[in-house]
Amino acid sequence: MIVHSWVVSTVESTVSQDCIFCRIIAGEIPSAKIYDHGGVYAFLDIAPVNKGHALVVPKKHHATLFDLPPDLGRELLVALKTVGQAVMTATGATGLNVGMNNFEAAGQLVHHAHFHLVPRHVGDGLTLWTQHAYDSVEDMQKLAQAIRSAIG
Ligand code: AMP
Ligand code: ZN
Repeated sequence: MIVHSWVVSTVESTVSQDCIFCRIIAGEIPSAKIYDHGGVYAFLDIAPVNKGHALVVPKKHHATLFDLPPDLGRELLVALKTVGQAVMTATGATGLNVGMNNFEAAGQLVHHAHFHLVPRHVGDGLTLWTQHAYDSVEDMQKLAQAIRSAIG
């Protein structure tokens, strides 16, 4: 076991002792748990956008999307679908938003990667982000080329 000032690492797990979600998963802080399978945990957001707003999180501490091991992808997708469907059924929602904030600029407050599942109802008044136009088609294509180049 390697012990740093704020992280305890073992072969089995990596837990940030300063992280509220790690403490929830460890049972040190109470949560309204709704799913606990394999490497994924889900619980109700304490300040819901709509009632039933759930958070799906990897049990191991990874800060953002870019830190998640690709091998966890299947388990996460199963959890998102299972929990998302159950949230819709239990709340009577007819829609569901799936969201993820990465880094402070995107509004990430808890630096333990997590997906928001927000049940939606027709006319619930929730508005998503405002969309804009590109300056030109050329401007749009130039940016697409830059992104393709960044993918490599
Ligand atoms: P984000 O801005 O994507 O990092 O979202 C963090 C979310 O965690 C917010 O929607 C908070 O309401 C939620 N949250 C923070 N603390 C708790 C907690 N103890 N139990 C449940 N949800 C929490
Ligand atoms: Zn954590």
